[in-house]
Amino acid sequence: MMSRFNSRPEARGLGMTSQRARDRLIERLREAGIRDERVLVAMGTVPRHLFIDEALASRAYEDTALPIGNGQTISQPWVVARMTEALLEAPPVGQDVPRRVLEVGTGSGYQAAVLAALGIEVYSVERIDELLRQARRRLRKLGLEVRTRHDDGRIGWSEHAPFDAIIVTAAGAMIDPQLLAQLGDGGTLVAPVGGAGGQQLLRLRRQGDRIEQVSLGTVVFVPLLAGTVSA
Ligand code: SAH
Repeated sequence: MMSRFNSRPEARGLGMTSQRARDRLIERLREAGIRDERVLVAMGTVPRHLFIDEALASRAYEDTALPIGNGQTISQPWVVARMTEALLEAPPVGQDVPRRVLEVGTGSGYQAAVLAALGIEVYSVERIDELLRQARRRLRKLGLEVRTRHDDGRIGWSEHAPFDAIIVTAAGAMIDPQLLAQLGDGGTLVAPVGGAGGQQLLRLRRQGDRIEQVSLGTVVFVPLLAGTVSA
């Protein structure tokens, strides 16, 4: 998987942002119950410090969410790992990993990078133009291909539907039926749902006409908001 990245010094990282710091994070994730080795390997490869402001880079491998500007955050590594694991658990028949995944909420681009590092074709929608432009630049620098769109992603990206999996990285009051309709047969959708009173990370699976839903536990995400923001 290393071969997906170029060998620029900033991609290799130094000191607090080194491979060793990343390895320690991976150990912590393992201790915290993350089991899927493919997810651990991918997260051990993607340089998270390049997805946040330089001033915060020394904290990049702590298991915590960090601000990325515009009132938004890069998700906590454990949450990224858990959601990615949930997407990989039961891919559609004949697939090792879901082949095409839609992400709602590109933010820093880190979650999209982890998915791309797993060899997944990623489609990612972000409502804040400034964040999306930064994310695109970072992904390009790392040689990771992610298709992005500046839009309100609550209703997905219909031109590219159906998707083998959908990941929503901001919390809405509900899962929009239009978004769920873009999930293909055998596909998995993970999304935080709920308001200030508390959010649940939901996992939905489509089997023909049936949708099976389970909660993976309590989480804290920034809100899923309507409309777009341009600089
Ligand atoms: N996956 C991101 C997490 C960023 S936080 C990462 O790895 O860094 C959630 C992001 O969702 C924010 O950038 C926010 O602007 C975006 N968001 C919120 N509502 C949205 C919507 N309706 N459509 C698209 N993006 C949205």
